[in-house]
Amino acid sequence: MVNQDFPLIFENSQSGRTSFSLPALDVPETDLGVELADQYIRKDAPELPEVSELQIIRHYTGLSKRNYGVDSGFYPLGSCTMKYNPKINEDVARLDGFSHIHPYQDTKTVQGALEMMYDLQTSLAEITGMHEVSLQPAAGAHGEWTGLMMIRAYHEANGDTKRTKVIVPDSAHGTNPASATVAGFESVTVKTNERGLVDLDDLKRVVGEDTAALMLTNPNTLGLFEEEILEMAKIIHQAGGKLYYDGANLNAIMGYVRPGDMGFDVVHLNLHKTFTGPHGGGGPGSGPVGVTTEIAKYLPKPVLTKREDQYVFDYDRPDSIGRVKPYYGNFGINLRAYTYIRTMGAEGLKKVSEYAVLNANYMMRSLQDEYVLPYPQHCKHEFVLSGKKQKKLGVRTLDIAKRLLDFDYHPPTIYFPLNVEEALMIEPTETEAKETLDGFIETMLHISNEAKENPEIVQESPHTTIVKRMDEATAARKPVLKYKRN
Ligand SMILES: *Cc1c(COP(=O)(O)O)cnc(C)c1O
Repeated sequence: MVNQDFPLIFENSQSGRTSFSLPALDVPETDLGVELADQYIRKDAPELPEVSELQIIRHYTGLSKRNYGVDSGFYPLGSCTMKYNPKINEDVARLDGFSHIHPYQDTKTVQGALEMMYDLQTSLAEITGMHEVSLQPAAGAHGEWTGLMMIRAYHEANGDTKRTKVIVPDSAHGTNPASATVAGFESVTVKTNERGLVDLDDLKRVVGEDTAALMLTNPNTLGLFEEEILEMAKIIHQAGGKLYYDGANLNAIMGYVRPGDMGFDVVHLNLHKTFTGPHGGGGPGSGPVGVTTEIAKYLPKPVLTKREDQYVFDYDRPDSIGRVKPYYGNFGINLRAYTYIRTMGAEGLKKVSEYAVLNANYMMRSLQDEYVLPYPQHCKHEFVLSGKKQKKLGVRTLDIAKRLLDFDYHPPTIYFPLNVEEALMIEPTETEAKETLDGFIETMLHISNEAKENPEIVQESPHTTIVKRMDEATAARKPVLKYKRN
C-alpha cells in the first residue's frame, strides 16, 4: 500500500541518498584532544534511513497529521482544561528579550524578565487570595508536593510530629494521594455524599490529632462546588490541620471566589490548564504555589522580591524547604500565563469563569436525557455522566469514547472519577463556540441512539482511524517503541 502522506522512510532508504550538503572544510583539521575509551567508539555505522530532504519532510509532516490537539478539534477532556492556547502568548514568548536570556545572567541585566515574574506572582496571589506565590514548581503534582512539604515543615517547626495523615476525598485527582505519599504522609480517604460533595460526617470521623492537612479541589472533580467549604475549613483548623487547595482547574471560579477567602492555607495552580499554557504532550507545565503569611517562610528558595527599585533573589531564607526546581521555574510557560492574564484583565478572567460554567451546563442539560446524570444540580466548569444505561445494552463507556474518534472528537476523560460507574467526565471549556458544542452534543446523542439500534458499530469502533482498537494491556506492558526493519 502506498501512502502519499506518509512515506515509509526506512523502506525507501537508498544508500548514498542524503538530505544535506556541507561546504568543504575551510579551517585546519584538528582533533579534539579527547581520547574516547574504546568501548564508546562504535564499530558499525547506525542503521539510519538514507533519504532526501523532501522524503523526510513528508515523513514528519505525516506524523504531525496523525496527532490531535486543541488546534485540530474539540478536546473535552475533563479535569484537563484543554482550552485554546492564544497565539499572542507564543509571540511574546519568542521576543528576543525573553527567549535569549540565560538563568546564569547577572540579575541586573534581566530586570524586565524578573519584573514579569514578580508581576505574575502578585497577580496569582490576588487571583487566589493568598499572601505570597512561588513560581518554581513545574507541574500540578509538583505544586502539590511542594505545598505539602511546606505544611510538613510548619507542623515540624511547631513540634507537631504526630500529624502524619492527609485527608483526600474519594473523588480527588489521583495526584493528590500520590503527592501526600511522596511527601511522607499517609493518605486517608473521606467519602462523597449522595449530592457529590464531601460527606461532613465522614470528615468529622477521619479528622483528628494526626491530621496534617485536608487536600481539596473546589469545584471538586465532579464539577460541583463544595458548598460547605467554610464549615470544612473550621473542622480542619480546629483540629490543628491545614487546608490545601488543588487549584489545577480554576476556570469556574476566577474572579468570583478565592481559595484564600474560603480558608485555604496553601494553593497550587496549573498555569498549563487554567492560564492557557499549551499542554497535552507531556511538555513543560507550571504549578505555582500560593501560601498564607503563616506558611510563607517555608516557601522554596530563592524567593523573588523587590528591594527599592531592583528585583532580586533572596537566598537568606533559613526556614525554606529548599529549592524544588533548577533555576526559577518554567519561565516560558509562566510568561505565556502572564501574557494571558494581561490580555484578559480582571474583567476578562471573570468572563472566563462565566462562559466555562455556561458551556458546561448547556452541554450537561442537553445530554442528561440520554445519559445518566448522577448529580443533578448545576455544575461548574465540568460535569460527569454515567454510561450505565448504555452498558445495559452492551455498550461500555470505553466503546463510546472510541466511537467519538470516528467523528474526529477527542474523547472525554473516562472511568474517572472512580466513584461514578462508567464515568464520562466532560469539560467543554469557555473557548468553544456554540456550534462546536452543538456538534458534540449531536454526536453524543447519535452514539446513544446507535447503542440502542446498532450496538456493534459502537462496540467495534473506531472505524476511520489509522490505528484501530489496541490491546491496551499489552500496549502498556509490552510497548514496541522502536522501529524494527524486517
Ligand atoms: C491536572 C490535575 C492535577 C495534576 O496536574 P499535573 O500538571 O498533571 O501534574 C492535579 N489535580 C487536578 C484536579 C488536575 O486536574
